[in-house]
Amino acid sequence: MKIGVPNQAAQHERRVAITPDVTARLVKQEFEVMVETGAGDAAGFLDKEFEAAGASVVPEAFLAWGCNLVVTVRPPSDEQIAMLKAGAVLIGLLQPLDEPQVVAKLAAANVTTLAFETVPRTTKAQSMDVLSSQATAAGYQAVLEAATAITKFFPMLMTAAGTIAPAKVLVLGAGVAGLQAIATARRLGAVVSAYDVRAAAAEQVESLGARFVRLELEQQKDEATGGYARELEEDAQKRLLMQLGDHVARNDVVISTAAIPGRRAPLLVTREMVEAMHPGSVIVDLAVATGGNCELSKADELVVHHGVKILAPTDLVSGVATHTSQMFARNTLNFLTHLVHEEGLRIDLKDEITAGACITHDGKVVNERVKSLLEGGAN
Ligand code: NAD
Repeated sequence: MKIGVPNQAAQHERRVAITPDVTARLVKQEFEVMVETGAGDAAGFLDKEFEAAGASVVPEAFLAWGCNLVVTVRPPSDEQIAMLKAGAVLIGLLQPLDEPQVVAKLAAANVTTLAFETVPRTTKAQSMDVLSSQATAAGYQAVLEAATAITKFFPMLMTAAGTIAPAKVLVLGAGVAGLQAIATARRLGAVVSAYDVRAAAAEQVESLGARFVRLELEQQKDEATGGYARELEEDAQKRLLMQLGDHVARNDVVISTAAIPGRRAPLLVTREMVEAMHPGSVIVDLAVATGGNCELSKADELVVHHGVKILAPTDLVSGVATHTSQMFARNTLNFLTHLVHEEGLRIDLKDEITAGACITHDGKVVNERVKSLLEGGAN
């Protein structure tokens, strides 16, 4: 089976879906790997390294997109969809709940689509969990962005010029990205606190040495929500904002990562809250792609409001493209190993992992949430 690995630089993407290390493993499993020229350049993986690992480096995009299996780190453009063969399998980060129209086009092109976003978050599928590996990088990078933007040190320093107090960092949303942000800010010496609506997050936050912010609001149980948060009712949302304001104002840095799959990100930092922060404080909003956690965030722009810097980067994972590509490629290898059987790639919709990932098959959209979005309903 031929795997196509496209060059996605034109989509402002620095990651590559397969690395030379994973190429060698795929070649051992009798895959033929077709890498488009320069696909790994921005992540530090050269064509000659892919060749040494057993890949064929192909000069044209259509040769990679035209394979019977294609792996991608971004949803394909119309032009790329046109290069996919009918009956091909497309695996990758495809944002099916945010881009249902792309899914509809893939179904119409009779492409079987497997999205990492909908792989179940189970122990068995942990090694294929691209959302987690990429969110880890985003959480780490967000803290570095904040540390660079702020005019303070993160650690406490005891110097002959006096003692410098450590920076105070508040993390909102303690999922995968939030937990990594906590760990990174702690490593840099900041005093860290965090809030999440899920009850299970408290113990995880505290195990990283941060303080969990306890609000007078019902905490959601993971068993009831499948590990994800639910949207708050209007009244609970109002109470949340009223209580969170003081915590936001007390911190030098706010890193917000709160998200609800397939929905607008919850609003957690209002304009008034920003105005109550000390000038020079920094907010890094990781949720801007789905509407943002901060009312003033603008995607990929630096907003300065009352002296507070608000950053809302959309592509932090590309900043550490070597390692995010390495993690993505390993997750992909584990996923492919799960799919491959003696007869080749098997799309077994009775298998929990494959069924979870499968968005289109046999010319149809098979994911119920995407179907409902396409029919104009909520997912
Ligand atoms: P996510 O990106 O969907 O959301 C980020 C965080 O925002 C979550 O912790 C969520 O609870 C929080 N959030 C949502 N609304 C909020 C609000 N109003 N206020 C404060 N916080 C809010 O989450 P994720 O990082 O993808 O993780 C989701 C869940 O999946 C977690 O329970 C995580 O432990 C679990 N998980 C399980 C596995 C596994 O078992 N293989 C792997 C990864 C993640």
